[in-house]
Amino acid sequence: MSTTHAAMGVCLAALLFPFAPELAAPAALGAMAGGVFPDLDVAVVAHRKTLHYPEHYWLVVLATGAVAALVPTATTAGVAFFALSAAVHSVTDVLGGGLGVRPWANDDERGVYSHRRGEWLPPRRWIRYDGAPEDLLVAAVLSLPGLLLFDGLVRQLSLALLALSLLYTLVRKQVPAIEERLP
Ligand SMILES: [Zn+2]
Repeated sequence: MSTTHAAMGVCLAALLFPFAPELAAPAALGAMAGGVFPDLDVAVVAHRKTLHYPEHYWLVVLATGAVAALVPTATTAGVAFFALSAAVHSVTDVLGGGLGVRPWANDDERGVYSHRRGEWLPPRRWIRYDGAPEDLLVAAVLSLPGLLLFDGLVRQLSLALLALSLLYTLVRKQVPAIEERLP
C-alpha cells in the first residue's frame, strides 16, 4: 500500500544521518511524498502504469542525486529522495498482488507496467495484496526509523501514516463492495 512505500522512503532517508544529518528530515519528507506519488494514478488513468516507471525513474534519481551531491541543500535532497522513493516504489510494486478489484482472488496478472518493455510485469505476491496483514507488518517495521530516529514533522507523519495503514488493513476487504455501491 502507498503508506508502506512512504515508510520505505523514510528508511532510505535515514541513511543520511551518518553523512548529512541536517538533510535527513527534508530528504524524509521528500521520500514520503515520492513514496505515495506513483499511486496517484489510481484516480487518474491507468493504475500502476501512468505514474509507475520501474526503469525510467532511475534516470531521474541519477540526475537529481548528482545535483544533490554537488549542491547539498534541503531542497535538492528532498527532490532527490522524492525521485528515489518513487523509483523504489515502482520496482517493489511487483512484489505485491495483481491489479484486480479483489487482488486476494489472484485473478489478475498485472503487477506493475514496464514502460521499457511495453508490457505488464507479473505480480510476485510476496505480499498477497495491498492492505494484507503482511503489508501492515512491513509498514510497521519500516516505520520504526521514522518514529525513533526522527522528530517533529517526520515522526508525526510517520505515526499518522501508520494509523492510516492499520485502518486501511482493517477495511481493505470491504473496499470492493463499497466501490460497487457508488453510482
Ligand atoms: Zn504503486
